[in-house]
Amino acid sequence: MNIHEYQAKAVLKSYGMPVLAGQVVQSPDEARDAVRALGGKLCVVKAQIHAGGRGKGHFLDHPDLGGVKLVHSPDEAKAVAYDMLDRVLVTKQTGPKGRVVHKLYVEAGCDIERELYFSLLVDRTLRRIVIVASDAGGTSIEDMAAKTPEKIHKVSVDPALGLADHQARELATRIGLHGPLINGFAKVARSAYEAFVALDASLVETNPLVVTKQGDLVALDAKMAFDDNGLFRHRELLELRDESEEDPREREAERFGLSYVGLDGTIGCMVNGAGLAMATMDIIREEGENPANFLDVGGGASKEKVAAAFRILLADPHIEGILVNIFGGIMRCDLIAGAVIDACQKTGCRVPLVIRLAGTRVKEGMALIEKSGLDAIVATDLGDAARKIVAAVRARRAA
Ligand code: ADP
Ligand code: MG
Repeated sequence: MNIHEYQAKAVLKSYGMPVLAGQVVQSPDEARDAVRALGGKLCVVKAQIHAGGRGKGHFLDHPDLGGVKLVHSPDEAKAVAYDMLDRVLVTKQTGPKGRVVHKLYVEAGCDIERELYFSLLVDRTLRRIVIVASDAGGTSIEDMAAKTPEKIHKVSVDPALGLADHQARELATRIGLHGPLINGFAKVARSAYEAFVALDASLVETNPLVVTKQGDLVALDAKMAFDDNGLFRHRELLELRDESEEDPREREAERFGLSYVGLDGTIGCMVNGAGLAMATMDIIREEGENPANFLDVGGGASKEKVAAAFRILLADPHIEGILVNIFGGIMRCDLIAGAVIDACQKTGCRVPLVIRLAGTRVKEGMALIEKSGLDAIVATDLGDAARKIVAAVRARRAA
């Protein structure tokens, strides 16, 4: 689960991270009042979407306006808020379609001396939390890794010992901090590490963490993501969830206990088991088309689950064909066949459908499909299934 910048700042602040004063607003008048409340001086209006690169982004109907704008007066804030709210912001991370901005964060302005990069994440190879820092703040870590990997510094934390102060201070010197800033950085690292562990986070990123002209460290941007598997331990975090930022298909799938990830291709996949689902996606690509999704119906797919899976697949306007690929181990092929027939008869399948079943009670499953008169193409193995769905989709496109 991801949260907004203003929420991440509030969470991190409660663990001791230095942040500037700010207010979240949802109307131009509120934006004006927020600047007044912050002292009427230099402020920054920041679009709140679950994507970075806002500063360098642009609004679809205002190509000159980015998602982070300095304002000098309450009235200017009102005008800027008017141009941002309910408009589409396009950034490197949103893709060309962009995201609609529903909330703004009005924050005190900052005199920036230096911009640093600072983040915490889980290194799966080391099986540890890693702290990453760089003096090349403001740039995305992906660009940094590609262009100037030598500027990225890391330390990993032993989970039994926790973050030692000397580790943080050493990292501070490696990114060129001196004097009191070294202890300041250690404090920032400690607060971020404590928040990360206590809340089962998967990412804390402040880019930039800045050194101000007054010589203080401040987190000027903040991003936090949480491990969904840990959320049951943190009910309070669920209130930070913003469903308007999530893929509606993924939300619907979650309600039915399906593992679903929406993708950009045209062939919908309904598979049991994550490994088989991955293999199915790969082989569709091998045949020259792209999967529209990853979908694992799980081990004990019920009629309701299969029906929900079909609804989700068919709700995607880009879908041009569906491939059902089930390996019956514990799952019985005849049950799945019955559920697929049922779902197709109820929902109506407007695209070509290829079914490949293997394993327990496969003969009975196949017999059911034949008897039902379902307009489906039957495949014998995975390769055959991929070839058949790709051929069917292409034939339909040509027609
Ligand atoms: P994004 O990463 O989405 O572009 P940031 O929050 O990092 O958004 O803001 C982009 C840039 O805007 C920062 O690198 C910083 O230079 C500037 N900025 C952000 N917040 C402030 C602020 N409160 N005061 C002054 N400058 C800011
Ligand atoms: Mg940033």
